[in-house]
Amino acid sequence: MLPIIEKLLAVQEHDRRIARLLREQRDVPLRKQQIESRLQAHRESHKAAQETLKKQTATIKRLEGDIEEKQEQIKKYREQELQIKSNVEYKALEHEIAVVQQRIRALEDEEIVGMEQVDELQRQLQQHGQDFQVEEKQVQEDLKTLDARAAGIAQEIEQCRAARTAEALAIEPEWLARYERVFQRTGDFALVSVDKSCCGGCHMQLPPSVVHDARKALSITLCNYCGRMLYVGA
Ligand SMILES: [Zn+2]
Repeated sequence: MLPIIEKLLAVQEHDRRIARLLREQRDVPLRKQQIESRLQAHRESHKAAQETLKKQTATIKRLEGDIEEKQEQIKKYREQELQIKSNVEYKALEHEIAVVQQRIRALEDEEIVGMEQVDELQRQLQQHGQDFQVEEKQVQEDLKTLDARAAGIAQEIEQCRAARTAEALAIEPEWLARYERVFQRTGDFALVSVDKSCCGGCHMQLPPSVVHDARKALSITLCNYCGRMLYVGA
């Protein structure tokens, strides 16, 4: 293999690593957002459950007020009964009382159902609270891990760039510039190996003379389709 190809391959390896690290670095804020959004979902469902509980509690309070009112009414009817002389009137009032009592029982049934729902909601809220704490702890840990990784990435990029710069110094500027142009244009590789007479970059079948030149390795051979630099792997 041509020495310059070897040097360029080392540079390319660094460049690819740097590109990969930069992509990862760019994704860090989004990944953070995704991690934090897990808590947001918990917060929202917790809030919704609290709202329902509030409404349910108000309903029970209203029912209690209604029941009390009805009981007061019965009390008044009983007082009225004491004044009544006629049997017909007495029976009519007894009927009224029975109707109100029936209404009270219906309200009490409703209240019982409501209180059971309140119990269930409170249990759910407590469970939510516990789940939230567990999730929050996990989120904090995940964020910490991600922060550590982000710091590691920045450091790796720095080291990689320093190594790349040192290696690039040993390469003729003309070839280095050419390599950089192709690397930038293709976005993946500037140097590729010949794979079964095909360019390892664009996968086009190479003319035999090009394959021959690449194998001889007397000078840099280019793919006549994509312009990538070709080499035959050792
Ligand atoms: Zn090619």
